[in-house]
Amino acid sequence: MVTHDLPKVKLGVRFPLLAFYITMSQTFIKLVENFTCGQCGAIVIGDGYTNHCPRCLYSQHVDISPGDRLAECRGLMAPIALERRHGVDQILHRCLKCHYTRANRTAPTDDLAALTDILL
Ligand SMILES: [Zn+2]
Ligand SMILES: [Zn+2]
Repeated sequence: MVTHDLPKVKLGVRFPLLAFYITMSQTFIKLVENFTCGQCGAIVIGDGYTNHCPRCLYSQHVDISPGDRLAECRGLMAPIALERRHGVDQILHRCLKCHYTRANRTAPTDDLAALTDILL
């Protein structure tokens, strides 16, 4: 009898996971912005937090305040420095068009070699 019960147990485990996955996907659709990197052409899959390319670390000048997407500049923002603020690693980005500078959190997906390159 134990062997007959096993499939039911497996399904019971799978369905909540599937429901969780669908819920998370729907939540993320509102926040996620995929974009093509204007610097290296990489297709960046947004996670709702990352606003820079994980490969070359370039960003785009789209915000006046973080996340508002109200800036009309749309210039490429180059990674110019790494710094640690409040225990969080940040990439300092400078807009190539208007020289606006802002710090952005590093993401786990960021290319480690590219991060190291900023320091050199
Ligand atoms: Zn890039
Ligand atoms: Zn700008």
